[in-house]
Amino acid sequence: MEAMKQAAHGDIMKTVLACLALVFFSASTARAQLNAYFVNVGQGDATYMELPNGANLLIDGGPSGEPIYQFLKARGVTKIDHVVLTHPHSDHYRGLKKVFAAFDVKNFYDTKAENKDAVGDNNLRELANAEPSCRTHFPEVGANLDWDRRVTIKVLNSCTEPVISRDNDVINNCSMVLRFYYNGHAILNMGDAEASVENAMAKIFKSGLSSTYLKIGHHGSRYSSTDKFLARVQPKVAIISVGQDNTYGHPHKESLDRIRATGAQIFFTLTGTQSLTIPAPGKGIGPLMNGELEVVGVDMTETPAFNMEDYTQQSIALQQLNESTGK
Ligand SMILES: [Zn+2]
Repeated sequence: MEAMKQAAHGDIMKTVLACLALVFFSASTARAQLNAYFVNVGQGDATYMELPNGANLLIDGGPSGEPIYQFLKARGVTKIDHVVLTHPHSDHYRGLKKVFAAFDVKNFYDTKAENKDAVGDNNLRELANAEPSCRTHFPEVGANLDWDRRVTIKVLNSCTEPVISRDNDVINNCSMVLRFYYNGHAILNMGDAEASVENAMAKIFKSGLSSTYLKIGHHGSRYSSTDKFLARVQPKVAIISVGQDNTYGHPHKESLDRIRATGAQIFFTLTGTQSLTIPAPGKGIGPLMNGELEVVGVDMTETPAFNMEDYTQQSIALQQLNESTGK
């Protein structure tokens, strides 16, 4: 009888231990991967990331509040550890106003660029100042951000001295550029930085730019993604954040051609939120590009599938039209 009791007790202990091991294993694997989401916010930028240590961050908020708000709400987000404004253009800062209003933000990372043509950027900065227990930071170029000790996060470009301008190129080139390196793979987020910044970064950081994933600068504008820069980055995957039928004609054919020539796969946010996972070391699997993220219950802006053939045809037709009309 005693032996039977002991055997039963042993079984229960085994089950309890197995359950504990399972809980522990799921918790540690859930924390140990890095997830990045390039959110479909229309014509603009918003990148949400979950770091292996459980911290989360948002780089830019897109041109309006609702798409990024719905995305974060559907993921069950209540607090955001780090919010970054790459530069003060409305397609990057406007959505952040709703983020500050709806979520508990712990840290705000900003440049000292001031867009003279807008007041909304300063309204956002006031919101960040008013947020209880949120600190504002202006990280220097070359700084390592201590957000997760297993991820190397480096600032590759910023404006930490005041720049007041209404010139779009000047403001774009103040973009805070961040590179995240984890388990042999890097994600490089360019904001709207243009060729001059790319050249400067290539000179300073050289092979330190090399990244599996490149969030293409300035929505695929022809003034970004030069051959020299792409040769330094050597991306395997390029992500272009762009809205359907935008008035800028982004992405431009010239930059698409340059990106294609690298052999990188190209993903567009206008076909849906694009996501990727860099697994924990020792998992024996490479990083995964997940294509469209399935977010249950989210009413994302409906965008028809992006047809590269149509796009190329349209570009050629437009080019011929411009040539024949002398534009
Ligand atoms: Zn932009």
